[in-house]
Amino acid sequence: MGNSLNRCAIAYQEVVDTGSLNSDYYTLADFIELDDEDIFKKTVPQFWYIEDHKRKGYFSYQRPLLSACENRVIIYDDFTGTEKEMIMMASNNYLGLISHPRVVQAGIRAYEKYGSGGSSAPLLSGTFDITRELELKLAEFKGCEDAMVFSTGYSANVGVISALLRKNDVAIIDKLNHASIVDGCRLSGASLRVYRHHDMGKLEKCLQKSRGQRQGMLVITDGVFGMDGDICNLPEIKRIADRYGARVMVDDAHATGVIGKQGKGTAEHYGMEGMIDIVMGTFSKSLAGVGGFVASTKEVVNYIRYYARSYFFSAALPPCICATVLAALNVIEEEPELLEQLHQNVKYLHSRFSQMGLEVTQPGTGVISVIIGDEIIVRKMSKQIHEMGLYINPLPFPSVRKGEARFKFSLMATHTMEDLDRAADIFEAACQEYGIIKTSPTLVASSSVM
Ligand code: PMP
Repeated sequence: MGNSLNRCAIAYQEVVDTGSLNSDYYTLADFIELDDEDIFKKTVPQFWYIEDHKRKGYFSYQRPLLSACENRVIIYDDFTGTEKEMIMMASNNYLGLISHPRVVQAGIRAYEKYGSGGSSAPLLSGTFDITRELELKLAEFKGCEDAMVFSTGYSANVGVISALLRKNDVAIIDKLNHASIVDGCRLSGASLRVYRHHDMGKLEKCLQKSRGQRQGMLVITDGVFGMDGDICNLPEIKRIADRYGARVMVDDAHATGVIGKQGKGTAEHYGMEGMIDIVMGTFSKSLAGVGGFVASTKEVVNYIRYYARSYFFSAALPPCICATVLAALNVIEEEPELLEQLHQNVKYLHSRFSQMGLEVTQPGTGVISVIIGDEIIVRKMSKQIHEMGLYINPLPFPSVRKGEARFKFSLMATHTMEDLDRAADIFEAACQEYGIIKTSPTLVASSSVM
């Protein structure tokens, strides 16, 4: 933290002295702390950091979409001031359901029937017949007794964890769990123990240390980790947790609609349906909407309704979204070929990257990450990749460890062979340009996907 304090102060001085900031020497982690009585002061160097990114063409956030977020999108390109077609591989729309006709029609019909919103909290007048229909469908889909829906996945995690854990309890989490899990734990006031990513020995040590000192213990893990798409070792987590009498909660945000024979998530993937104490998920990825849910026993779900402040004190999910998500769940069950196609696409792109000799994460979910290492190279590559028409997410520090910057490819069932080949070619050209791989690119660089 001291280092970050210093760096923010140095950056501030650079802005005062020169009227700008050279963003090459900083990351977003540098602007969190500044020892100053003016709470606005730290915003000044951060503003100039972003400005310098934009000026250099490194800025890859918030590229405005002018079309649906499908396999190909039209964006407004701030760099050139023109519209541009791009291959979209930065979206969690894994099954492509956001524009599936059955999903869209269900949303439109509900919009016409119920209007645009609920205008109230769920326990007051914000619950509709379709809300409850969705909750029961989710419970069945996840093999649990009951389920409830939240307005976002973030508020589901924060609400569930803070509703169940008390000061004397302990939450034990994987180091790479999603921020909403960490925030839920902090809000609950329970002790927090963090084990190294996937390290089952460390998980057991955390439980050993907590036993006897604490009352309740909850082990929380992402089912599929969003950064690299790796899957948690749920059988082992459950076995160890059981040995110490701890409850287990799985965040299935990136697993629902993606893993398991029928896309039902992490428990189905391991043949453990109905064996997990709490399953949480979000509608903002495969389920083509926005919102979150939790599935568990009927008593736990009932309890959370009254003690999750992010549920009790927040507006309900609009009925048109409930209808959309319900239709998405039905499509997942009735059109298994979409799941099959997603996995074929992932395997194909993964094999292209492997052939190039890139350091790439295991296939098996909807995400493939390619580790590049140097952050500045990733920034420069981002610019080229954008210009050539591929929309992917760079993951710099502090999203990942220093020196492990990478690109994340999120695939969809609706990507065509042409999309996959073109994306691989664009990426290969950028890797070649920056010395990541030595082979000749199979592509003559152009500035558009078409
Ligand atoms: N959990 C995980 C693992 C996530 O990746 C996300 C979203 N990125 C969330 C929870 C939060 O979900 P939402 O975006 O619906 O708020």
